[in-house]
Amino acid sequence: MYPTVLGAKPTHLFIVCSDIRLPAQERFIRGRFGVSKDNGTAVIIHVLGGAGPLARKEQDHSGYEYLQQQILFALRHNPTITTVGPINHQACLWYGGNGVAGEEETDLPVISRNIVTFTTGDPTVRQKVIVRPSFLEFNEGGNRFSGREVTIPMA
Ligand SMILES: [Zn+2]
Repeated sequence: MYPTVLGAKPTHLFIVCSDIRLPAQERFIRGRFGVSKDNGTAVIIHVLGGAGPLARKEQDHSGYEYLQQQILFALRHNPTITTVGPINHQACLWYGGNGVAGEEETDLPVISRNIVTFTTGDPTVRQKVIVRPSFLEFNEGGNRFSGREVTIPMA
């Protein structure tokens, strides 16, 4: 038997990469944002490339549409979510595979603005959403990573 979380009122939604090198991403989320899916305060979407497709509609149109629909669905059905946290990481295989290696961090402003634009423009999403992007970096040996929140000028 495994526990369920009933009556959850999540406040945060994260988009993270499925990369197996980052099994502790949820610990970063708990430490930085104080929320967790274990107690129903966070919803986490795992997808290869993390939030990357949201900056790369031309390279991955279906990936962009998929993530947009997933985010809008989560916000529509969880009106208590008011923070969206796109998380990208260094040396992401999705970026390499799409010929845009090294753009993982510099994409975060575009990703954040796109999230604001499509959530604001969707009449079924009633809450006002704040976007707080983060970036994860590997250490020199590649056996650890550290995360930090990235400040984005939204104006
Ligand atoms: Zn990745």
